[in-house]
Amino acid sequence: MKKQRSKNQRIRYFIVNMISFASIFLILGIIVFQLLQTSIYQSVDTELNHLAGNETFLEGQIKMLQVDRTGQFPKDSPIFDSEKGTKTPPNNFQQQVILWSEDGDILNSEGLGSRYNDLQNIQFSTDQLDTVTNIEVADSNDRTLQFRSITVPMMSNNDEKVAYIQILTNTDPIKGTVERVKQILIACMVIFGVLSIILSYFLSKWSMKPIMVSWRKQQEFVENASHELRTPLTIIQAKLEKLFTKPNHTILEESETIATSLTEVQRLGQLTNDLLLLARSDSNAVVLEKEPINVNQFLEAAIAPYQELALAENKDFILVLEKDGQVAFDRQKIQQLLIILLDNALKYTNEQDQLQLTSTIEKNEWVIRVIDHGIGIEEQQKKEIFDRFYRGDQSRNRKTGGYGIGLAIAKWIVEAHHGKITVSDSEPKGTTFTVSLPLK
Ligand code: ATP
Ligand code: MG
Repeated sequence: MKKQRSKNQRIRYFIVNMISFASIFLILGIIVFQLLQTSIYQSVDTELNHLAGNETFLEGQIKMLQVDRTGQFPKDSPIFDSEKGTKTPPNNFQQQVILWSEDGDILNSEGLGSRYNDLQNIQFSTDQLDTVTNIEVADSNDRTLQFRSITVPMMSNNDEKVAYIQILTNTDPIKGTVERVKQILIACMVIFGVLSIILSYFLSKWSMKPIMVSWRKQQEFVENASHELRTPLTIIQAKLEKLFTKPNHTILEESETIATSLTEVQRLGQLTNDLLLLARSDSNAVVLEKEPINVNQFLEAAIAPYQELALAENKDFILVLEKDGQVAFDRQKIQQLLIILLDNALKYTNEQDQLQLTSTIEKNEWVIRVIDHGIGIEEQQKKEIFDRFYRGDQSRNRKTGGYGIGLAIAKWIVEAHHGKITVSDSEPKGTTFTVSLPLK
């Protein structure tokens, strides 16, 4: 069931990713293609407009008619190379110039040479003068030729009776280029499509990972929490049921049962508080109330009850306060942190063992060490003790109670203060917890 849900979620991620990638690539491809196409045609149109506005060029074309007819180059012809005595074509290979008479006859059929065959079917039109248009001409082999064309009206008083000059650029080769670009782009699209499928696959896998981890953690947390809540509840229920079986007993006679129940209720209360704090810390709902506090004074007051407890348990508790100073922190939370560490230090030491709390202010941090010489923590457990509900095997066997959430809370408190908490071994035996909180 769980697996199915996460699989569905992953498939959804995969599809969303793929659609996003594919659309981005597609839009990009279309834009590139459009830009390329217009820029290719634009250069043709610019040249046509340029030639249509060039008087010398146009007059040259008319003079060419004379040349074609008389075989003589006028000396002022822009197309006449006087040194070589040759005629340079006025236009590039793709460009044709047609000179029209008033009646729509082609005047320069000779000058066009073999190209005349292709162009003789062209329709004479004066509808759109001075603007570049697209025209199609069926050539002698019945192929359709594509042209960009501009027609310019001429003064009809010229010698050759030229009424209109039409300049044409054959766009078939350009069309070929555009076609090729289109094919390349489509090939690229296909490659990118395949890439986006692969990418989406890994991306969906990768983005599901943290979700799965936090989901599993949440699941574990809820399972552990309900398990821990059930134990004291079962005890209380059993004790209360036992009371019912002895209706004649006095409170004094059942004081042990009642006391046990009360202890369990207290434990439940504490556990609920802790769970609430952890749940709130997960959703960042806890706000620290920081204030500048004199550290030595604070520590003396905070650990006084634990010194008494240690004394009662026959343990030696030393407080070493080195450099004093003012640090801004959340009084309640840091007190809770000390309680967690001192509670562990007392729980996991035996009679006559020594505990020590040291505090000092270094260059830019406040360092607190809780050192004990008790049972110690095995190396491989050190990584896990800060996990929620983790309890070492030895502590499970002890009659110390506890749920394994003390250090998880401690870690959260330290990190909320942007500090660090580490664990190491004490000499010759035992455990040292080092907390360092930044001064700023
Ligand atoms: P809780 O604090 O919730 O009452 P707990 O003490 O078992 O229960 P933590 O404080 O989170 O839980 O500690 C986790 C585990 O780390 C403990 O069960 C214990 O095995 C180990 N541990 C913690 N502090 C010490 C210590 N000073 N010496 C040896 N082992 C320790
Ligand atoms: Mg603890």
